[in-house]
Amino acid sequence: MTTMIADALTSARQRLSRALQDAGRNSDDASLLAVSKTKPAELVREAWQNGQREFGENYVQEALDKQQQLSDLDDIIWHFIGPLQSNKTREVANHFHWVHSVNREKIARRLSDQREDSLGPLQVCLQVNISGESSKSGVSLDELPQLAELVTSLPRLELRGLMAIPAPCDDPQRQREPFAILRGALEQLRSTLPHAQLDTLSMGMSGDLEAAVFEGATMVRLGTAIFGARH
Ligand SMILES: *Cc1c(COP(=O)(O)O)cnc(C)c1O
Repeated sequence: MTTMIADALTSARQRLSRALQDAGRNSDDASLLAVSKTKPAELVREAWQNGQREFGENYVQEALDKQQQLSDLDDIIWHFIGPLQSNKTREVANHFHWVHSVNREKIARRLSDQREDSLGPLQVCLQVNISGESSKSGVSLDELPQLAELVTSLPRLELRGLMAIPAPCDDPQRQREPFAILRGALEQLRSTLPHAQLDTLSMGMSGDLEAAVFEGATMVRLGTAIFGARH
């Protein structure tokens, strides 16, 4: 088992650095988020033993259970990347370093209100609904500027960038379209919110990493490619 995760991580890192190179970008321009949803704590520990520090989780209770089992690994950085309901915001606000899936004002306000001061600001990406039909869970491009401005005004949130989950598509050329739109949206926000630290494009998964890196991804979220298929 140990060698399986080690090998998969090595391949994933090679895949990311090759994609960065092909895109003419520096080798440290994008980082690897290991998406461990549905996978047991032991596999997260194995990935940690092989140098991985950033992990993404989608389900609050499952994540809290794993965090408890891994509480000795105090340098793990936990990212919440799943759909976020308002009755779960307190746990997410206080048990994660990052949230990628903020998509509406109510959620943003609750996360800021409920985050304990001593933890420092929660790092936030706004999830944007780019390819319309597939994912209803992101903010629309029309409503994005208003939500972004609100988040920058909240005391315990730090707006870092944008996240998207485009509709699955097998054509590498067409995969780039929604990522290009997300990149454009981030550039626009940078001009209207010059004081925000907008350095994060969370995009690219096991099936479309290369396309996302081509369009400027700074954090790719890999599940299957690291931990194998989910059941
Ligand atoms: C599950 C998930 C991933 C990882 O997807 P893979 O295709 O397994 O790499 C990435 N991002 C989000 C938001 C997810 O829910």
